[in-house]
Amino acid sequence: MQKKDKANNKPLDKDSKPTIWENLDEAQLTEVEDFAAEYRSFLTSAKTERAVNKFVVERALKEGFVDLDASSGKVKRGGYLSHHGKLLGLFVPGQQSPKAGFNLVVAHGDAPRLDLKPKPLYEDVGFGLLKSNLYGGLKKFQWLARPLALWGFCALKDGREIDLRFGEEPGGPVLTITDILPHLDRKVQREKKLSDAFPAEKLNVLAASKPEGKKDDKKRLKLAIKNILQNRWGLQEDDLISSELELVPAGPAVEVGLDSSMIGGYAQDDRLSVFCGLKALLKAGSYPQKPLLLIVFDREEIGSYGSTGAETNFVQRLAAEAFAASGLEPHWHDVQKALSKSRAISADVEAAMDPTFKEVHDELNAARLGLGPCLTRYTGGAGKYGASEARAEYMAFIRNLFDGASISWQSTLLGKQEEGGGGTVALSLAYNGLSIVDSGAPVLSMHSPFEITSKADVWMTAKALTAFFSSQW
Ligand code: MN
Ligand code: MN
Repeated sequence: MQKKDKANNKPLDKDSKPTIWENLDEAQLTEVEDFAAEYRSFLTSAKTERAVNKFVVERALKEGFVDLDASSGKVKRGGYLSHHGKLLGLFVPGQQSPKAGFNLVVAHGDAPRLDLKPKPLYEDVGFGLLKSNLYGGLKKFQWLARPLALWGFCALKDGREIDLRFGEEPGGPVLTITDILPHLDRKVQREKKLSDAFPAEKLNVLAASKPEGKKDDKKRLKLAIKNILQNRWGLQEDDLISSELELVPAGPAVEVGLDSSMIGGYAQDDRLSVFCGLKALLKAGSYPQKPLLLIVFDREEIGSYGSTGAETNFVQRLAAEAFAASGLEPHWHDVQKALSKSRAISADVEAAMDPTFKEVHDELNAARLGLGPCLTRYTGGAGKYGASEARAEYMAFIRNLFDGASISWQSTLLGKQEEGGGGTVALSLAYNGLSIVDSGAPVLSMHSPFEITSKADVWMTAKALTAFFSSQW
């Protein structure tokens, strides 16, 4: 016999808990598939934080949202606030005044990747190459010998802005980083510690092999790259200094499994939460009970610092804009008070238990694919260092909310104590005194170029966030 939670008659043991799949009727199965298809196309079409920002703004505009920076007075359907094209906030007015606090969901739109250095171009032994720079916590060897695409935003001295994309045409050319063959890797890789075997400075991108110019010219491969930059995008080499060029896995997000039950694709951490947060916000409709805020942060994967990260006053600014857009004077005291009363979900994905690496998880508290969004009371490292821990009363509120809305969810922790650890933007938001807890879908192969989620979990995560946005208190 399994232990049962008497109040809800739910098995506490995850092994005996039915997955979402087992409780879906035909109509819901169709919903899950449609939602997954739309989500996959979002992942495929928005592979940088700027592209994510643009996608969300376009959706909001379609719904009748207005730019809070450019408008004054009350907004009807909603408003958005975009900071530097990389950090975004959405606001939906509620029946209640913002003074009584918001329902707030925060996610992040950046993902681990390789950036190009400001001066990336060089040539060596007959190749034109580009030097890359790590962004975020990635396992470097996963980025070798695979197709990569280059997504970029270039700001020119004369004020022109150029969006650049290379490597995403089906059947078209891509970029790649070479790896050494196993026959010769003994000294440079195999006998080294993994952490030493793949130095970041060896992640050099293969960009050209066909020389340009006359036979006696020097640097003919570098010239080949420079010509392409000039002819294709109107860029000089120096323009790369004022560009954001990001190398990401090439190709679309796809279905995974003989049963097509999963989704495989890059940057589901944390664009899954961005997508579900957006869908939930829009589904909450006009004038839900509480005023709603959704924030898509940048720079989460590198510590949330910088002017577009969560370690800024953006939430305060957005809240002040929401006051103004509700016809209220955004007095400092009122805004701070509203924020400290607010209820928030730090929507971020959780590590799913990997059948091949079970030893890093505490099985009782590990997330399982297919059991729905996770509720992670605290993250951080061993000893809860650097953790934002949700207080008991807030955990009770969320449990009650999810159960009341028939959400399949699971109580989880990242991994065993002392295996490592991680954090989310919850910590930065908690600075404002609000109630916040981490919640998001479980992911396998997190931070890899091919992250795996369950279609059912993605769908259920959006439902959970819809329930949260609709909550009254
Ligand atoms: Mn994340
Ligand atoms: Mn992450």
